[in-house]
Amino acid sequence: MRKAILDEFKLEPSELFLTAIHTHSAPSPTINKEKGHPNNVEYTENLKGKLTEAIRSALNNMGPVTVGCGVGYCPIGANRRELNISPSGQSSIRLGRNPYGPTDKEVLVTKLAKPDGDAVAALFGYATHATCLGPKNYAISGDVLGLAEQFVEKILGEGKIAPAFAGASGNIDPWFRVLPAFNNEPGWIPEPVLLGTMLGEEVVHVYRAIETVRGGGEINTAFTILKLPSKPSDETAAKKDLPPTPLAITAGRVGDIAFVGIGCEVLTEIGLAIKSASPYKNTFVIAHCNGAAGYLAPGHLHIEDGYEIRSSPFAPAAADMVVKQAVAMLHKL
Ligand SMILES: [Zn+2]
Repeated sequence: MRKAILDEFKLEPSELFLTAIHTHSAPSPTINKEKGHPNNVEYTENLKGKLTEAIRSALNNMGPVTVGCGVGYCPIGANRRELNISPSGQSSIRLGRNPYGPTDKEVLVTKLAKPDGDAVAALFGYATHATCLGPKNYAISGDVLGLAEQFVEKILGEGKIAPAFAGASGNIDPWFRVLPAFNNEPGWIPEPVLLGTMLGEEVVHVYRAIETVRGGGEINTAFTILKLPSKPSDETAAKKDLPPTPLAITAGRVGDIAFVGIGCEVLTEIGLAIKSASPYKNTFVIAHCNGAAGYLAPGHLHIEDGYEIRSSPFAPAAADMVVKQAVAMLHKL
């Protein structure tokens, strides 16, 4: 899809931040007719057409905008790496809630407005999986992030858009996900709506407080593919010399707002490290951007094991290399 878009519109790789949010409430994207379910292939082809049309429409309707950024706070993300002690005293990490684990509660909002002040869009970022709809759900939905988008767009009014970015959310689930057990029969939506509304309310609150739009100036972008040390993603596999695992990093800067897109499911500690080392006032860290390489966990969590570690293709040393690279790219921009 990325290649199709770059070719069609003759864009440089750094000029496309093709990003997804992570729900469990849509078909699995694939264009592989042999391996993919026909419904999923059809859905993906359809999505490709819609994306292409959206980009064409955007490029054909370009005009000057001013940009401003604001920061809020929302509690709906929970660190999910819960410590479990078995009756025999063995410790392990399971999917649940970890009150001691870090989360990133920041709601980052960028307001785009026409020079006359008329609002165009509110882009926002928040670090959570959007997986509150239960495993029995078959409705296609953006889940908590999509519901927050809908809430914001409803309030901003006709023609305004509010796209969400999933921040560094590899180990962050929505508050209602696994615990406490809640009703998740098909069509049951109160919890996702509650969480989406809480996030959407905060986006609107921040958006309305952004008074000074600062112009923005030039847009600078950069793109690189890092070759990172690998580990077997299946622990039973023999450890041998594995080829490096590629990871796309995309960076952009408009005025004092920065964007770092990482082509995998990046854990929240890594996003916090990039944000805190960024030379810009506001830095969006965007997961699932221009790639889907799997989980990337900070080195120190490898000793704890757990789902994200076991399924990750990256060796413990990879995370620090990504932070270093991303921060270097931000400085260059
Ligand atoms: Zn995930």
